[in-house]
Amino acid sequence: MIKASGKRVYELLKKHLRYDEDEFVVYVAKDLANNPFVILVSIILSQNTSDKNSIRALKNYINEIGSTCDDALRASVEAIQKAIRPAGLYKQKATTIKRLAIEYCNRGPQILNNNDINLIKMWLLSIPGIGRKTVDVFLQLLYDAPVFAVDTHAARIAKRWGLVGDKASYDEISHALLEFFGHEHAGEAHRLLIVLGRRYCKSRKPRCGECPLREVCPYAQRQS
Ligand code: SF4
Repeated sequence: MIKASGKRVYELLKKHLRYDEDEFVVYVAKDLANNPFVILVSIILSQNTSDKNSIRALKNYINEIGSTCDDALRASVEAIQKAIRPAGLYKQKATTIKRLAIEYCNRGPQILNNNDINLIKMWLLSIPGIGRKTVDVFLQLLYDAPVFAVDTHAARIAKRWGLVGDKASYDEISHALLEFFGHEHAGEAHRLLIVLGRRYCKSRKPRCGECPLREVCPYAQRQS
């Protein structure tokens, strides 16, 4: 188990890992067209690809298709596929965006304005192609919900820190990280773990010797 409190780890990460918000596709979406639909599109685009690729795809999407659910409804699936190609898995993602557009134009504003986190969560999860991470990123960003979105970096790091076992489920990892960092820091900690994973805590060859957490991380202690 990591030998520091969530508060201390958060402080160390904040001190050593500087980043710009525009490195993250959801913030680019917020800047370019601050509406919930396009933020959901940006999170769909980010599935299984880098923020760099999803930012390129998002900019194309907004230029070529538009930013509202009506724009997405009017566009053909082929046009959406072409616009979002840089994000990879573009056929699958275009289909998900189309499904989202139908649902969103139908009931989106009514459900989102209700501010009922569970209702929003169930509604989004009922749309094929939208999973827990997409929903948690959205709920955390727009509703400051008490959730911790788990991507591959967060999952790997939580296991290396000993917060969860190697076979932990999404829910177990999400709960453990939320408890560790606390609701107040969940959104920022989610982004810091992504930056930590990209710069130091890489999947194959983690750079423990240079990592700001090397003194407190059990994985680093085992390697030395
Ligand atoms: S010390 Fe190593 S295993 Fe621990 S967080 Fe840093 S890079 Fe990851």
